[in-house]
Amino acid sequence: MESPAVNEIAAGLGGEKLEVFRKLNLLEQHRVESFKDWPFPETSSCSISKMAEAGFYWTGTKRENDTATCFVCGKTLDGWESEDDPWKEHLKHAPQCEFVKLSCAEKDLTPLWLKFYKTEENLNEELDKLTPPPNITCIYNPIVYASQLHCDYLRRYMDGPKKLVFIGMNPGPNGMAQTGIPFGNVRTVKVLMQLSGSVDKPPVEHPKRPVNGLDCRIEEPSGVRLWELFLRLAGNMEIFSQQCFVHNFCPLSFFDEAGKNLTPSELKGPYKKQLRDFCCEALEKQLVLLKPQVIVAVGEYVMTVLKHSAYCKSDSVSVLRLPHPSPRSANNSNWPEKAQTFLEDNNLIHFMRNEA
Ligand SMILES: [Zn+2]
Repeated sequence: MESPAVNEIAAGLGGEKLEVFRKLNLLEQHRVESFKDWPFPETSSCSISKMAEAGFYWTGTKRENDTATCFVCGKTLDGWESEDDPWKEHLKHAPQCEFVKLSCAEKDLTPLWLKFYKTEENLNEELDKLTPPPNITCIYNPIVYASQLHCDYLRRYMDGPKKLVFIGMNPGPNGMAQTGIPFGNVRTVKVLMQLSGSVDKPPVEHPKRPVNGLDCRIEEPSGVRLWELFLRLAGNMEIFSQQCFVHNFCPLSFFDEAGKNLTPSELKGPYKKQLRDFCCEALEKQLVLLKPQVIVAVGEYVMTVLKHSAYCKSDSVSVLRLPHPSPRSANNSNWPEKAQTFLEDNNLIHFMRNEA
Protein backbone atom coordinates (compact mmCIF):
# COMPACT_ATOMS: atom_id res chain seq x y z
CA MET A 1 0.00 0.00 0.00
CA GLU A 2 2.94 2.35 0.60
CA SER A 3 3.62 4.51 -2.43
CA PRO A 4 7.21 5.39 -3.40
CA ALA A 5 6.40 9.02 -2.61
CA VAL A 6 5.62 8.10 1.00
CA ASN A 7 8.92 6.30 1.40
CA GLU A 8 10.80 9.21 -0.11
CA ILE A 9 9.08 11.80 2.04
CA ALA A 10 9.43 9.64 5.15
CA ALA A 11 13.13 9.04 4.46
CA GLY A 12 13.70 12.76 4.21
CA LEU A 13 11.98 13.49 7.52
CA GLY A 14 13.19 12.99 11.05
CA GLY A 15 10.94 11.03 13.41
CA GLU A 16 9.52 14.19 14.98
CA LYS A 17 8.46 15.78 11.74
CA LEU A 18 6.95 12.53 10.58
CA GLU A 19 4.79 12.53 13.73
CA VAL A 20 3.51 16.02 12.87
CA PHE A 21 2.75 14.82 9.35
CA ARG A 22 0.87 11.88 10.84
CA LYS A 23 -1.24 14.15 13.08
CA LEU A 24 -2.10 16.34 10.10
CA ASN A 25 -2.86 13.30 7.92
CA LEU A 26 -0.61 14.81 5.26
CA LEU A 27 0.49 11.48 3.81
CA GLU A 28 -1.86 9.06 2.15
CA GLN A 29 -0.45 6.19 4.21
CA HIS A 30 -1.35 8.03 7.43
CA ARG A 31 -4.89 8.67 6.20
CA VAL A 32 -5.24 4.95 5.44
CA GLU A 33 -4.09 4.13 8.97
CA SER A 34 -6.62 6.57 10.48
CA PHE A 35 -9.58 4.40 9.37
CA LYS A 36 -10.19 2.29 12.46
CA ASP A 37 -13.78 1.23 11.76
CA TRP A 38 -15.01 1.83 8.20
CA PRO A 39 -18.18 0.06 7.04
CA PHE A 40 -17.13 -0.47 3.40
CA PRO A 41 -14.85 -3.23 2.02
CA GLU A 42 -11.80 -2.67 -0.22
CA THR A 43 -13.90 -3.75 -3.22
CA SER A 44 -16.32 -0.82 -2.85
CA SER A 45 -15.98 2.53 -4.64
CA CYS A 46 -15.40 4.28 -1.34
CA SER A 47 -12.91 1.78 0.09
CA ILE A 48 -10.38 2.99 2.68
CA SER A 49 -7.62 3.24 0.08
CA LYS A 50 -9.78 5.25 -2.32
CA MET A 51 -10.98 7.54 0.48
CA ALA A 52 -7.40 8.16 1.59
CA GLU A 53 -6.25 8.79 -1.99
CA ALA A 54 -8.98 11.44 -2.38
CA GLY A 55 -7.75 13.22 0.76
CA PHE A 56 -10.03 11.81 3.46
CA TYR A 57 -9.09 10.55 6.90
CA TRP A 58 -11.45 8.92 9.37
CA THR A 59 -13.28 11.12 11.87
CA GLY A 60 -15.97 8.59 12.73
CA THR A 61 -17.02 7.10 16.03
CA LYS A 62 -18.22 3.66 17.04
CA ARG A 63 -21.85 4.75 16.58
CA GLU A 64 -21.31 6.77 13.40
CA ASN A 65 -18.43 5.08 11.67
CA ASP A 66 -18.99 6.43 8.13
CA THR A 67 -17.62 9.93 8.72
CA ALA A 68 -14.47 11.24 7.04
CA THR A 69 -12.72 14.61 6.72
CA CYS A 70 -10.46 16.16 4.08
CA PHE A 71 -6.93 16.88 5.31
CA VAL A 72 -6.75 20.10 3.25
CA CYS A 73 -10.15 21.83 3.29
CA GLY A 74 -11.44 20.17 6.48
CA LYS A 75 -14.80 19.27 4.91
CA THR A 76 -16.45 16.44 6.81
CA LEU A 77 -18.79 14.11 4.94
CA ASP A 78 -20.97 11.32 6.33
CA GLY A 79 -23.72 9.08 5.01
CA TRP A 80 -21.39 7.40 2.51
CA GLU A 81 -22.75 4.64 0.26
CA SER A 82 -20.62 1.88 -1.18
CA GLU A 83 -20.93 3.12 -4.76
CA ASP A 84 -19.90 6.72 -3.92
CA ASP A 85 -16.72 7.90 -5.65
CA PRO A 86 -14.65 9.80 -3.04
CA TRP A 87 -13.07 12.20 -5.60
CA LYS A 88 -16.51 13.06 -7.05
CA GLU A 89 -18.10 13.52 -3.62
CA HIS A 90 -15.16 15.67 -2.57
CA LEU A 91 -15.55 17.89 -5.64
CA LYS A 92 -19.33 18.13 -5.24
CA HIS A 93 -19.27 19.16 -1.57
CA ALA A 94 -16.02 21.16 -1.47
CA PRO A 95 -15.27 22.49 -4.99
CA GLN A 96 -13.06 25.22 -3.47
CA CYS A 97 -10.64 22.65 -1.96
CA GLU A 98 -7.10 23.07 -3.30
CA PHE A 99 -6.47 19.33 -3.07
CA VAL A 100 -9.57 18.33 -5.03
CA LYS A 101 -8.74 21.04 -7.58
CA LEU A 102 -5.37 19.36 -8.13
CA SER A 103 -7.15 15.99 -8.38
CA CYS A 104 -3.80 14.23 -8.24
CA ALA A 105 -3.23 11.05 -6.26
CA GLU A 106 -0.04 10.91 -4.21
CA LYS A 107 1.30 8.02 -6.33
CA ASP A 108 1.06 10.24 -9.41
CA LEU A 109 3.34 12.82 -7.82
CA THR A 110 6.34 10.67 -8.74
CA PRO A 111 7.19 11.53 -12.35
CA LEU A 112 7.56 8.75 -14.88
CA TRP A 113 11.28 9.29 -15.43
CA LEU A 114 11.92 8.92 -11.69
CA LYS A 115 9.94 5.69 -11.52
CA PHE A 116 12.01 4.50 -14.47
CA TYR A 117 15.26 5.54 -12.78
CA LYS A 118 14.22 3.63 -9.63
CA THR A 119 13.97 0.44 -11.72
CA GLU A 120 17.51 1.13 -12.91
CA GLU A 121 18.75 1.72 -9.36
CA ASN A 122 17.10 -1.52 -8.21
CA LEU A 123 18.73 -3.38 -11.09
CA ASN A 124 22.14 -1.93 -10.15
CA GLU A 125 21.70 -3.24 -6.60
CA GLU A 126 20.98 -6.74 -7.91
CA LEU A 127 23.89 -6.69 -10.37
CA ASP A 128 26.29 -5.54 -7.63
CA LYS A 129 25.65 -8.81 -5.77
CA LEU A 130 26.76 -11.01 -8.69
CA THR A 131 30.25 -12.43 -9.17
CA PRO A 132 31.55 -11.61 -12.66
CA PRO A 133 33.67 -14.08 -14.68
CA PRO A 134 37.40 -14.04 -13.75
CA ASN A 135 38.49 -12.68 -17.16
CA ILE A 136 36.63 -9.43 -16.50
CA THR A 137 38.91 -6.88 -14.81
CA CYS A 138 36.78 -3.74 -15.00
CA ILE A 139 33.03 -3.16 -15.02
CA TYR A 140 31.70 0.32 -15.75
CA ASN A 141 28.19 1.40 -14.77
CA PRO A 142 27.59 4.87 -16.22
CA ILE A 143 24.11 5.03 -14.67
CA VAL A 144 26.03 5.43 -11.40
CA TYR A 145 29.06 7.58 -12.26
CA ALA A 146 27.31 9.56 -15.04
CA SER A 147 24.03 9.77 -13.13
CA GLN A 148 23.67 13.52 -13.59
CA LEU A 149 23.69 13.35 -17.39
CA HIS A 150 21.72 10.12 -17.38
CA CYS A 151 19.00 11.64 -15.21
CA ASP A 152 18.97 14.81 -17.33
CA TYR A 153 18.34 12.61 -20.37
CA LEU A 154 15.48 10.80 -18.61
CA ARG A 155 13.99 13.96 -17.11
CA ARG A 156 14.01 15.84 -20.38
CA TYR A 157 13.03 13.10 -22.81
CA MET A 158 10.78 10.81 -20.77
CA ASP A 159 7.87 13.01 -19.78
CA GLY A 160 5.29 10.33 -20.59
CA PRO A 161 4.74 6.90 -22.16
CA LYS A 162 6.30 6.26 -25.60
CA LYS A 163 4.85 4.51 -28.65
CA LEU A 164 8.21 3.38 -30.03
CA VAL A 165 11.16 2.24 -27.94
CA PHE A 166 14.58 1.27 -29.31
CA ILE A 167 16.62 -1.05 -27.10
CA GLY A 168 20.37 -1.44 -27.48
CA MET A 169 22.54 -3.99 -25.71
CA ASN A 170 24.89 -2.16 -23.31
CA PRO A 171 27.06 0.98 -23.05
CA GLY A 172 29.66 1.43 -25.75
CA PRO A 173 33.08 2.45 -24.34
CA ASN A 174 33.11 5.89 -26.00
CA GLY A 175 29.37 6.41 -25.98
CA MET A 176 27.15 5.69 -22.98
CA ALA A 177 30.19 4.71 -20.89
CA GLN A 178 31.32 8.36 -21.22
CA THR A 179 27.98 10.17 -21.16
CA GLY A 180 25.40 7.95 -19.40
CA ILE A 181 23.14 8.25 -22.45
CA PRO A 182 22.35 5.20 -24.62
CA PHE A 183 24.41 5.32 -27.84
CA GLY A 184 25.39 8.78 -26.54
CA ASN A 185 28.52 9.82 -28.35
CA VAL A 186 29.81 13.12 -27.01
CA ARG A 187 28.94 15.31 -30.00
CA THR A 188 25.31 14.09 -30.12
CA VAL A 189 24.87 14.65 -26.40
CA LYS A 190 26.43 18.13 -26.42
CA VAL A 191 25.17 19.50 -29.72
CA LEU A 192 21.97 17.67 -30.64
CA MET A 193 20.63 17.06 -27.11
CA GLN A 194 22.13 20.20 -25.59
CA LEU A 195 23.00 18.36 -22.39
CA SER A 196 26.00 19.30 -20.29
CA GLY A 197 27.43 18.33 -16.95
CA SER A 198 30.22 16.53 -15.20
CA VAL A 199 30.81 12.79 -15.14
CA ASP A 200 32.59 11.00 -12.29
CA LYS A 201 34.86 7.98 -12.64
CA PRO A 202 34.06 4.28 -12.26
CA PRO A 203 35.52 2.78 -9.03
CA VAL A 204 38.21 0.91 -11.00
CA GLU A 205 39.24 2.56 -14.25
CA HIS A 206 41.10 0.58 -16.91
CA PRO A 207 44.16 2.60 -18.06
CA LYS A 208 43.24 1.88 -21.68
CA ARG A 209 39.60 2.84 -21.12
CA PRO A 210 39.65 6.24 -19.42
CA VAL A 211 36.33 7.91 -18.62
CA ASN A 212 36.52 11.57 -19.58
CA GLY A 213 32.80 12.31 -19.81
CA LEU A 214 31.96 15.08 -22.25
CA ASP A 215 35.69 15.75 -22.72
CA CYS A 216 36.12 12.37 -24.39
CA ARG A 217 37.66 12.98 -27.84
CA ILE A 218 36.95 9.56 -29.33
CA GLU A 219 33.77 9.16 -31.35
CA GLU A 220 31.49 6.18 -30.74
CA PRO A 221 30.70 5.15 -34.32
CA SER A 222 27.50 3.29 -33.39
CA GLY A 223 26.21 6.33 -31.53
CA VAL A 224 27.08 8.72 -34.34
CA ARG A 225 25.30 6.52 -36.87
CA LEU A 226 22.19 5.84 -34.80
CA TRP A 227 21.49 9.32 -33.45
CA GLU A 228 22.42 11.15 -36.64
CA LEU A 229 20.00 9.01 -38.63
CA PHE A 230 17.20 9.22 -36.05
CA LEU A 231 17.46 12.96 -35.56
CA ARG A 232 17.81 13.65 -39.29
CA LEU A 233 14.59 11.71 -39.89
CA ALA A 234 12.77 13.25 -36.91
CA GLY A 235 13.95 16.84 -37.30
CA ASN A 236 15.30 17.22 -33.78
CA MET A 237 15.41 15.58 -30.36
CA GLU A 238 12.33 17.41 -29.06
CA ILE A 239 10.20 16.01 -31.90
CA PHE A 240 11.79 12.55 -31.71
CA SER A 241 11.23 12.24 -27.97
CA GLN A 242 7.50 12.97 -28.11
CA GLN A 243 6.75 9.36 -29.06
CA CYS A 244 10.15 7.61 -29.09
CA PHE A 245 12.85 6.66 -26.62
CA VAL A 246 16.25 4.95 -26.81
CA HIS A 247 17.27 2.67 -23.95
CA ASN A 248 19.97 0.08 -23.26
CA PHE A 249 19.09 -3.39 -21.96
CA CYS A 250 22.16 -3.79 -19.73
CA PRO A 251 23.72 -0.82 -17.88
CA LEU A 252 27.22 -2.32 -17.67
CA SER A 253 30.33 -2.29 -19.88
CA PHE A 254 32.90 -5.07 -19.44
CA PHE A 255 36.64 -4.95 -20.06
CA ASP A 256 39.26 -7.69 -19.79
CA GLU A 257 42.83 -7.23 -18.63
CA ALA A 258 43.96 -6.02 -22.06
CA GLY A 259 41.15 -3.46 -22.10
CA LYS A 260 39.11 -5.34 -24.68
CA ASN A 261 35.42 -4.47 -24.58
CA LEU A 262 33.31 -7.61 -24.07
CA THR A 263 29.59 -7.45 -24.75
CA PRO A 264 27.03 -9.28 -22.54
CA SER A 265 26.72 -11.92 -25.27
CA GLU A 266 30.49 -12.57 -25.12
CA LEU A 267 30.57 -13.21 -21.35
CA LYS A 268 31.24 -16.65 -19.90
CA GLY A 269 29.93 -18.79 -17.04
CA PRO A 270 26.79 -18.50 -14.88
CA TYR A 271 27.16 -14.69 -14.73
CA LYS A 272 26.01 -14.36 -18.33
CA LYS A 273 22.57 -15.83 -17.59
CA GLN A 274 22.25 -14.15 -14.18
CA LEU A 275 22.96 -10.78 -15.78
CA ARG A 276 20.47 -11.41 -18.56
CA ASP A 277 17.75 -12.53 -16.11
CA PHE A 278 18.09 -9.50 -13.83
CA CYS A 279 18.15 -7.15 -16.82
CA CYS A 280 15.06 -8.88 -18.26
CA GLU A 281 13.24 -8.43 -14.96
CA ALA A 282 14.05 -4.71 -14.90
CA LEU A 283 13.17 -4.28 -18.57
CA GLU A 284 9.76 -5.81 -17.93
CA LYS A 285 9.02 -3.10 -15.33
CA GLN A 286 10.43 -0.42 -17.63
CA LEU A 287 8.21 -1.52 -20.53
CA VAL A 288 5.14 -1.49 -18.29
CA LEU A 289 6.00 2.13 -17.43
CA LEU A 290 6.73 3.23 -21.01
CA LYS A 291 3.86 1.24 -22.62
CA PRO A 292 5.36 1.09 -26.15
CA GLN A 293 3.35 -0.36 -29.06
CA VAL A 294 6.49 -1.07 -31.03
CA ILE A 295 9.79 -2.27 -29.59
CA VAL A 296 12.85 -2.27 -31.82
CA ALA A 297 15.71 -4.50 -30.70
CA VAL A 298 18.96 -2.97 -31.92
CA GLY A 299 20.95 -6.11 -32.71
CA GLU A 300 20.44 -9.84 -32.35
CA TYR A 301 21.25 -10.18 -28.63
CA VAL A 302 18.39 -7.90 -27.58
CA MET A 303 16.02 -9.60 -30.04
CA THR A 304 16.80 -12.91 -28.34
CA VAL A 305 16.34 -11.60 -24.79
CA LEU A 306 12.99 -10.02 -25.72
CA LYS A 307 11.68 -13.54 -26.32
CA HIS A 308 11.63 -13.87 -22.50
CA SER A 309 9.49 -10.74 -22.07
CA ALA A 310 5.85 -11.19 -21.05
CA TYR A 311 5.13 -7.60 -22.16
CA CYS A 312 6.36 -8.40 -25.68
CA LYS A 313 4.05 -11.42 -25.95
CA SER A 314 0.96 -9.20 -25.98
CA ASP A 315 -0.87 -9.12 -29.34
CA SER A 316 -0.93 -5.34 -29.27
CA VAL A 317 2.89 -5.08 -29.14
CA SER A 318 5.20 -5.60 -32.14
CA VAL A 319 8.83 -6.51 -31.73
CA LEU A 320 11.21 -5.81 -34.59
CA ARG A 321 14.95 -6.18 -35.11
CA LEU A 322 17.13 -3.42 -36.50
CA PRO A 323 20.70 -4.46 -37.38
CA HIS A 324 23.24 -3.04 -34.91
CA PRO A 325 24.98 0.10 -36.23
CA SER A 326 28.41 -1.10 -35.10
CA PRO A 327 31.10 -0.98 -37.80
CA ARG A 328 32.46 -4.14 -36.06
CA SER A 329 29.58 -6.08 -37.69
CA ALA A 330 30.38 -7.50 -41.12
CA ASN A 331 29.08 -5.76 -44.27
CA ASN A 332 27.76 -2.85 -42.24
CA SER A 333 29.23 0.18 -44.03
CA ASN A 334 25.77 1.00 -45.45
CA TRP A 335 24.00 0.83 -42.06
CA PRO A 336 22.34 4.27 -42.36
CA GLU A 337 20.69 3.28 -45.67
CA LYS A 338 19.70 -0.17 -44.37
CA ALA A 339 18.27 1.33 -41.19
CA GLN A 340 16.31 4.01 -43.02
CA THR A 341 14.77 1.37 -45.30
CA PHE A 342 13.89 -0.71 -42.22
CA LEU A 343 12.20 2.28 -40.55
CA GLU A 344 10.28 3.13 -43.74
CA ASP A 345 9.24 -0.46 -44.44
CA ASN A 346 7.93 -0.86 -40.90
CA ASN A 347 6.11 2.45 -40.97
CA LEU A 348 7.99 3.83 -37.97
CA ILE A 349 9.08 7.24 -39.19
CA HIS A 350 5.75 8.88 -38.37
CA PHE A 351 6.39 8.06 -34.67
CA MET A 352 9.81 9.68 -34.95
CA ARG A 353 8.32 12.78 -36.59
CA ASN A 354 5.48 12.86 -34.04
CA GLU A 355 2.89 12.70 -36.83
CA ALA A 356 -0.16 11.01 -35.26
ZN1 LIG B 1 -10.78 18.98 0.53
